[in-house]
Amino acid sequence: MIFQQQLRIPGPTPIPERVLRAASRPMIDHRGPEFAELLADVTAGAKRVFQTSNDLLVLTSSGTGGLESAVANLISPGDEVVAAVCGNFGERFAGIAAAYGARVVRLAAEWGEPVEPADLAEVLDAHPQASLVLLTHNETSTGVTNRLADLARVARNAGRVVAVDGVSSVSSMAIEVDRLGIDVAVSASQKGWMAPPGIAFVTIGERAWEMSERARAPRYYFDWRLAMKQAEGGSTPWTPAIGVMYAVQEGIRVMEEEGLENVFRRHRRLADATAAGLSALGFHLFAAEGHRSATVTSAVPVPDLDVGAYRRLLRTRYGVVIGGGQGKMAGKLVRVGHLGAVAGGDVVQVLWAMERALEDLDVAPADGRAMAAAAQHLTEEEAATAAP
Ligand code: PLP
Repeated sequence: MIFQQQLRIPGPTPIPERVLRAASRPMIDHRGPEFAELLADVTAGAKRVFQTSNDLLVLTSSGTGGLESAVANLISPGDEVVAAVCGNFGERFAGIAAAYGARVVRLAAEWGEPVEPADLAEVLDAHPQASLVLLTHNETSTGVTNRLADLARVARNAGRVVAVDGVSSVSSMAIEVDRLGIDVAVSASQKGWMAPPGIAFVTIGERAWEMSERARAPRYYFDWRLAMKQAEGGSTPWTPAIGVMYAVQEGIRVMEEEGLENVFRRHRRLADATAAGLSALGFHLFAAEGHRSATVTSAVPVPDLDVGAYRRLLRTRYGVVIGGGQGKMAGKLVRVGHLGAVAGGDVVQVLWAMERALEDLDVAPADGRAMAAAAQHLTEEEAATAAP
C-alpha cells in the first residue's frame, strides 16, 4: 500500500501519529517498575473512560477474550443465562456462554432493531433462575445501539447480574458503568481507543466478584482473581501486550485533551452526517431510527449494487475501506465506521468516494449530494478537518 488508507471499518481504527510513536517505544521488563507505572496509569485512565470506580482488568486479548473472561468467571456449567441478542456480536456472547455449558435463553430482536426492555423484563420473569444477563451496548453488525440504561435497570431490578459488551461503544459513547449499576463491562483497544488490537478491558463490580466466587466454569488464562492479585502487585499473570498498552495510554491522553463529552458529541455528529450522506445516495439506513449507532452506520445499498465489487472499487481506486455485512447480512450491507480518530473531513472524503464510485459503476452521476447532506451536520471548519 503506497498511500494512506482511509480506514473506515468499525475497528481496527486509524491510529494517530503520536499514538503510533508511543506504541513503538523500546520494550521494558513486564515485572519491573516501569511496567507497574504503565499498568496503573492505563487502569486509572480506562476507569475514567468507563466512568467507574469498580475494579478494572487490562487483559492481553481481543475483545472476544474479554467477553469470554466474563463468562468463564461468572457461570457454572448448567446455569441458566439470559442473552439479549440483536445481531452477530450478541450471538457471539450467547455462543460463548453456551460453549461454557450455560443453558442460554436467547431474547432475540430482529436485526436492525434494538432489544426492547419490556421484552427483557418478560423473559426475566419467566426465568427466575437465570442469574446472569448478557447485553450488547452497541451491536456493530447492524449499527444498532441498545437503550443500555433501560435494559440494565430492568435486569438490576430483577436482581440479576449484568454483563455488557461495550467493545465498540466504550470510549466513543458514554457508558456510565457506576451510574447504571453495570456489574461487568468489556471493551477493546482497537475501537474508539485509537490503539492497535491486543488489549481488552473488563470492569468488575462487587456483585460480579461475589458471583465469580461461586462460579465453577473452568478458567486459566482469563482467571480474574489471579489477574487482580497480580495487578495489585503491578503486573499481569502472563506477558502483556506492552506496546498496545503504551498506545492505549496515549490514546486516553488524546481523548482527555479533547474532553470525553466532546469526544462523545463528535461521534454523534459524525454519525448523523454519515447517515445523511448515505441517505442522499439512496441507501436505506438499516438501524431503526432513534437507535442508530454513533460509531458505525449500516445501510442497505441501492438495488442491484454488488456490495463486494463496490467495496473493492472504493478500496483500490479511492483508498477508502468500509465494512460489509456480517452473518446473515453478508453481501447485503455496507457498514461505515466513524469511531476513534475521525473528523468531519474524513466523513466527507468517504462520502465523496462512495458517491464517485457509484458513478464509476454507472449507478448514478456524482453531483455532490452526499457531501451537501453531510455538511448540514458539520461546521465548515469541521468538514475541512481530517483526523491527525
Ligand atoms: N463485540 C462487539 C460489539 C464488537 O464490535 C466486536 C468486534 O468488532 C467484538 C465483540 C469482538 O471483538 P474482537 O474482534 O476484538 O475479539
